[in-house]
Amino acid sequence: MNLSQMTKDQIVSFKSENEKLYNDFKGQGLCLNMARGNPCKEQLELSVDMLGVFDDGNFMSSCGTDVRNYGIVDGIPEAKKFFSDMIGVGTEEIIIFGNSSLNAMFFAVQCAFNKGILGSKPWSQCEKRKFLCPVPGYDRHFKVTEFFGFEMINIPMTPSGPDMDMIEELVKDEDVKGIWCVPQYSNPDGISYSDETVKRFAALKPAAKDFRIFWDNAYCIHHLTDDPHCILNILDEAKKLGNEDIVYVFGSTSKVTFPGAGVAVMGASVANVEELRKYLGISIIGYDKMNQFRHVKFFGTIENMKEHMKKHKEIIAPKFRLVCDVLNKEIAPLGIGEWTDPEGGYFISFNAPAGCAKRIVQLCKDAGVTLTGAGATFPHGVDPEDKNIRIAPTYPPIEDLAKAMELFVICVKIAAAEKLLG
Ligand code: PLP
Repeated sequence: MNLSQMTKDQIVSFKSENEKLYNDFKGQGLCLNMARGNPCKEQLELSVDMLGVFDDGNFMSSCGTDVRNYGIVDGIPEAKKFFSDMIGVGTEEIIIFGNSSLNAMFFAVQCAFNKGILGSKPWSQCEKRKFLCPVPGYDRHFKVTEFFGFEMINIPMTPSGPDMDMIEELVKDEDVKGIWCVPQYSNPDGISYSDETVKRFAALKPAAKDFRIFWDNAYCIHHLTDDPHCILNILDEAKKLGNEDIVYVFGSTSKVTFPGAGVAVMGASVANVEELRKYLGISIIGYDKMNQFRHVKFFGTIENMKEHMKKHKEIIAPKFRLVCDVLNKEIAPLGIGEWTDPEGGYFISFNAPAGCAKRIVQLCKDAGVTLTGAGATFPHGVDPEDKNIRIAPTYPPIEDLAKAMELFVICVKIAAAEKLLG
């Protein structure tokens, strides 16, 4: 029965039943951390053989550089070829960064802030700076633009991507310098942008010539189904319109091989890449080319990497299934929440009744299950409706996840009942 249709007495007894279950849980001394989308141990094992690829004694890149030595600021040719296939750009349109795409994004913002983009005034010298933030979104994106003093404007997500009408209107303001996008299996909603959305992004004509779309395609090959639908290639679409400078594409192997020890890349127009490469050369002599070569040697082809991702899927898809099954069984009939059933990526986005998210996360924490902080999916950590909770199901063993979900739904029930009782 829908909770809102219950009488006050029924809600009171519903609440006290769930409080009893909650207290039993508290006694179990649970200690589980589901705060971040980390791969689990079995997933990490999939790439361990990569550590042996130099057993053949070959350290020479095809360009004649020994990858053990200094040099090549923007990546060895093999890595450029391999990763340009991964993110769908040409080998002249890519920079191979270090072990973190977030770091590459920070670098790109920092360059625009200090030096400007392709001749425009540095962002630091603009009286006002604004950035568009589709919400809910990735907390660390928002931290970057917060750090550089941007006013962040929330853009609601729709099932086909961020609200494009609103974006097209807002970019008429010259103070608006960019937007964060996770176009395939967005973090945390798991939404993939429709073809129309990608085309509208590619066709944007912002007032600010230095407006950039930060197209963080972190989950471009992270499918949870057998027949994945991939989004349109934004750089190709933008090129068709002569608008190729508008986008910076990012990706990494953090959730393909090892988080924190993968390879991060950025794709962009030749003009953008040439400018950023120049600045990069001031900050570093060269990233870890052994790791670049290790990845290329281990996978060989992009097709092999896609096969590798199917092994990840086998491990994590049952965990996503479990979460959705529990929510369907325990929450759907009560009408006290909505959630996504994503076809890829790393998260399930749960929307509780307004005003309940913080309470649910706190209840879970007090009983030993740490979730991503409520509000984290919004700029400045403020969810105006206090309802979004990011569930990251990949890391815990499935038995632990089942326990955590058992607790989670109890907490949702208690918080929703408290809200209704006022
Ligand atoms: N972008 C998104 C959307 C993510 O969800 C994450 C990690 O969760 C990252 C980037 C971080 O990637 P990296 O490890 O390459 O810095």
